[in-house]
Amino acid sequence: MNRSLVVKNGIIVTMNKKREVFKGNVIVENDKIVDVIKGESKESGETVVDAEGGIVVPGLICSHTHLYGILLRGSPLKISPPSDFTQNLQRIWWPMDETMNRDDAYISALTASLEMLRSGVTMFADTFSGPNAIDGVLDYIEKGVKEAGIKGIISFEATQRRNIEEGYRGLEENIRFIKKGGTKVRGMISLHASFTVTDDLIKKAVEERDKLGVPFTIHTSEGKWDLYHNLERYGKRTFERLRDLNALGPRSVVAHAVNVNEDELSIIRETGTNVAHNPLSNMLNAVGTAPVPEMMRMGINVSLGNDGYVFDEFENIRAAYLMHKLNRLDPRVMGFLDVLEMATVNAAKAYGLENVGSIEPGKNADVVVIKPLIRPTPLTESSAYAYLVNSVNSKDVDTVVVDGRVVLSKGVPTTVDLEKVNKKALEMVGNYWERLKTAGEKVEVLKQ
Ligand SMILES: [Zn+2]
Repeated sequence: MNRSLVVKNGIIVTMNKKREVFKGNVIVENDKIVDVIKGESKESGETVVDAEGGIVVPGLICSHTHLYGILLRGSPLKISPPSDFTQNLQRIWWPMDETMNRDDAYISALTASLEMLRSGVTMFADTFSGPNAIDGVLDYIEKGVKEAGIKGIISFEATQRRNIEEGYRGLEENIRFIKKGGTKVRGMISLHASFTVTDDLIKKAVEERDKLGVPFTIHTSEGKWDLYHNLERYGKRTFERLRDLNALGPRSVVAHAVNVNEDELSIIRETGTNVAHNPLSNMLNAVGTAPVPEMMRMGINVSLGNDGYVFDEFENIRAAYLMHKLNRLDPRVMGFLDVLEMATVNAAKAYGLENVGSIEPGKNADVVVIKPLIRPTPLTESSAYAYLVNSVNSKDVDTVVVDGRVVLSKGVPTTVDLEKVNKKALEMVGNYWERLKTAGEKVEVLKQ
């Protein structure tokens, strides 16, 4: 039978319930996987991708990113080096946020999407912050994401750190975009962090989460600022306050959860809240190590994000694999499959996405073919996990299929002319950097 697409001759890391790994073929009809065949197959396809004995994995899912973070790479900000996480926000992220306009949001979305696609990411969850570019900005981000050919859940990160009204405008932008509807690019509700939003805004955001049936995300306990803020003003630790405002639950994804105690871990588990772990960003900002081994032991759903720092998903997978071993001085606390689950099925569960995260009949045809150029040891069913976690990165990703469409072939995006994109980025980001040169430190605190 002639199918629309066949991926043949691969070692298929299915991430199905049995976590099966076998040599075989993935059969695609339009945007869905219709069969996964062990061994040889007689199926032919209009498009045939030969994996040549390489590894075939489900499209990877990044559960927490800031696409606009890509514009910070080598940025001309003139700042004294931050000495802690709070100064990191005040001296780097907030001046950057306030300089952003809608065109900056578009070009960052396009380039960051392409960079993620290059490492096998087919879906991500993004939050954008830019107090001078609130209304309508999600349309600009949507345009960049769609041009790259990737899928995303995008949102505006509502905050009241400058003034109370801006928080409600941020929430409105999310609601507007969600109501516009969309499949490949859709919206969610997003707040910055508990130390920059009032109880009233959290309550309204949660009402919208439940009314619209969409995910809700917020940064939590990254540095110590939100813990101190919540203890001082409310007499509650961060997760106690969020629980009391009904902000936790199966539809909530909390980023970081680094500075949490045992009581807070129990709250996360009891409410069925999802965690987005960002190991490379946590190391960069020197905020500490999230208690991920405990979370896993307790049955908390932990997924993997990049927090707008390094967009290569395999580098984030590797960081999650290594960080906890060093932190605990125990190499047993994290396994290959643990971190691969974070980047696939766990991330899908976090956002309630039932059709992605594994290679199984009926799922969306989001498939990645990885062809390591150098193979010093046999690449087999039993060595595939070790290859993926210990050595693979973007340069080994050969083909990416999103909803049955080949969007990356031989490591190059098929959706855009890269030369043109880079030229456009040079012009647009050059303009942003000019404005960024004069941006100063922002010492802003929630006034209410
Ligand atoms: Zn973040």
